[in-house]
Amino acid sequence: VVGVDLGGTKVLAGVVDHDGKVLSRYKAKTRQYKGQPSELLDLIAESVHGAVGDAHLELSAIEAVGVGIPGALDPTRDLVSVAPNLGWINLPARDELSKRLNGITVRLENDVRNAALAESVLGAGAGSQSMVAIFVGTGIGGGLIAHGELQRGTHGGAGEVGHTVIRAGRGLCSCGQKGHLEALAARPAVTAYIARHVKRGEKTTLVGRGHGKTDVQYLTSGDVEAAVKKGDALATRAVQRSARYVGLACGSLVNLLDPQLIVLGGGLVDAIGQQYLDWAAEAARPHILSKLAHDTPIVAAKLGDDAGLLGAALTARQA
Ligand SMILES: [Zn+2]
Repeated sequence: VVGVDLGGTKVLAGVVDHDGKVLSRYKAKTRQYKGQPSELLDLIAESVHGAVGDAHLELSAIEAVGVGIPGALDPTRDLVSVAPNLGWINLPARDELSKRLNGITVRLENDVRNAALAESVLGAGAGSQSMVAIFVGTGIGGGLIAHGELQRGTHGGAGEVGHTVIRAGRGLCSCGQKGHLEALAARPAVTAYIARHVKRGEKTTLVGRGHGKTDVQYLTSGDVEAAVKKGDALATRAVQRSARYVGLACGSLVNLLDPQLIVLGGGLVDAIGQQYLDWAAEAARPHILSKLAHDTPIVAAKLGDDAGLLGAALTARQA
C-alpha cells in the first residue's frame, strides 16, 4: 500500500509493506497549491507515482492508497468537508484521487486520527484494544481507539480532544472559542506564557539568545526544551503548566472512556520527553475516580514524524 501524509507545506508519500516497513519516501512542497485543489490533487497523484517508482514497483503492484488529510472529513470519508491549510471545502477528494491513479482504491482519514491509529497498531499502543492519543504541538489533536478500531463518531469528528473545555472563559483558541485545551497547552500557549512573564520583567535564558523580548512568542519546541534542560525556571514553569492541563484532560478521559492506556506525542512532548509525561500523570491521577483505573499508563508516542505516513498506510490496508 501507499501511505500519503498531506500537510499545508509538504506532502510525503511512501510505499509500506505488510510489516509496516517503509520502502520509499517521496516528498513534495504543497504551499503554492493552497486554494488550487485540482493542482494539489495532481501533485498528490504524482507523489504516489514517485513513491512507487522509488520502491522499484509498478502502480499495479499497489493494493490501495491511504491519505491523511489536515482537516475535517464527512462520515463516509469520501468528502473533505473543510481543510483550512489547503483551502479545501466540500471536496470529493477520494474519487478525484482514484481517478488520477487508474481507479486504484483510495481511503481518506484525518491526519491526526491516522497518527493515533499508527500508534495503536505499530507504536506505543501496539497490542492494545483501547487507547487515547493526544498530540501536543502547534495545536492539539487526538484519536480514540476502541475494540481495536479507530472511532470516527456519528458525524465523523470524534477525537478532537484539543477542543474540550478545560478552563471556562480562559485563553482564546484557534477555533474562536475560549478555554479549550489547545488554547491552554499547545506550543503557542507555552511561548505566550513565557512572553507574558518576560514583559512583566521575569528573567529567562530565552531572552538575549537572539530572540529578544518581543520575539519570545516565536520560540520553537527545541528552544523551550533547551531552556528546560538548562534549568530555566520560567520555561520549566510554562511547560509544566502545559503538561498539567494535558494531564487534567487525561484524567477526564480515563473517567469517561477507561482506556487501556493514553499515548502522548507531538512536537512539544517529544522535545521535553519523560518529564512532560510525569507532570501530566501527576495532574491526572487525583481526578481518576476508579481505583482500578488509577494507574492507567500515560506513555510517550513512539513513531515520531512517521506516525502520519504509517497511519495512512494502515488506513489503506483497511480498504
Ligand atoms: Zn478550540
